[in-house]
Amino acid sequence: MVFINENFTRLEDSYLFSTIAKKRAAYQAAHPQAKVISLGIGDVTRPLCPAVIDAMTAAVADMGRAETFHGYGPEQGYDFLKQAIIEHDYQARGVEISPDEIFISDGSKSDTGNIGDILATANVVAIPDPVYPVYVDTNVMAGREIKMLPTDATGGFCAVPPAFHADVIYLCSPNNPTGTVLNRAQLAAWVAYAQREGALILFDAAYKAFIADDTLPSSIYEIPGAKDCAIEFCSFSKTAGFTGTRCAFTVVPKTLFGQTAAGEKVSLNALWNRRHTTKFNGTPYIVQRGAAAIYTPEGQRQVRETIAYYRENARLIKETLTELGFTCFGGEHSPYVWLQAPAGQTSWEFFDLLLEKLNVVGTPGSGFGPSGEGYFRLTAFGSHEQTAEAMQRFRQYFGK
Ligand code: PLP
Repeated sequence: MVFINENFTRLEDSYLFSTIAKKRAAYQAAHPQAKVISLGIGDVTRPLCPAVIDAMTAAVADMGRAETFHGYGPEQGYDFLKQAIIEHDYQARGVEISPDEIFISDGSKSDTGNIGDILATANVVAIPDPVYPVYVDTNVMAGREIKMLPTDATGGFCAVPPAFHADVIYLCSPNNPTGTVLNRAQLAAWVAYAQREGALILFDAAYKAFIADDTLPSSIYEIPGAKDCAIEFCSFSKTAGFTGTRCAFTVVPKTLFGQTAAGEKVSLNALWNRRHTTKFNGTPYIVQRGAAAIYTPEGQRQVRETIAYYRENARLIKETLTELGFTCFGGEHSPYVWLQAPAGQTSWEFFDLLLEKLNVVGTPGSGFGPSGEGYFRLTAFGSHEQTAEAMQRFRQYFGK
């Protein structure tokens, strides 16, 4: 028999969303009349905007004509999309990125999960807690030593540089699940740490479109020195409703280096280029045309409208819960509101209470790491009507 990668046996079972689904289904089966509202899963619900649909429709037509047909494209992505990204996401914020530093992909989940391919197993990895579980699981699969960076209410659920050494640090801003965003000074402290320790920052900006305050950094490269120590992951999933369409990009600056055990300096851009072109054959032409359309004036207006729609839900959730006396984080620069369960309740106890008494489904914070225990995540990705109805139920149950 073949030998397996035993690191997989060290993974903790990921029961979070399957347990939520099972509990919800069991409740619904026992109470067929109940109108259960889900503010749980981090998936978008608004359709793709017209500019994206028009561009993808035109691209489908391109594929049907010999003169405009596209077969395998460049694995790293088409220039038309890279140029749009450079201009709008970087030059507009004073950051210079060149096309060969951008790698278009099918998602930030794949990229944040696969980036470890180019990094040695011996690297010590630091991961904030609570956070998007993919970082921990993919490093367990690789057999790396992980040091958690617990965050709490006192520190506003923002990870700060630790006293110990780490070789690789994951940062997620705005954070999933806490919705908190790192400001310029906090990010600068991380860049200084990376410079001091010779560490690499893996910066996940999947939710950057939700940053409402233009003075907050939406790219780590807005911090001087970051191009020498950080890789950035961006996605069209939450920015433009591409969770089912699949398109993202990763920036690996050419000024970024690692070393061999013998001390030889190696370009991380060259390594990722090799990895990406060997294991990935490019995001579909039709999808890249759709992604590029969000950077047209029409596309920009339309995706901003959708973000504003979700942001209004987040505002309503946060305002209502705060009024009811809950301690809340996030919700301003993020589609997630992170709230503390009533005193003494675990995340799952609070989940059960909301399901049974309010018929509202959310996500227990403990599913995102040990420091999430006692907390709970609600998302703004529902409809206005359902969000308002859910908040009404909170008022009825928790209002004095
Ligand atoms: N990064 C974070 C922090 C996320 O929360 C998610 C999805 O929920 C992703 C990445 C995945 O993005 P994509 O849809 O591009 O794979």
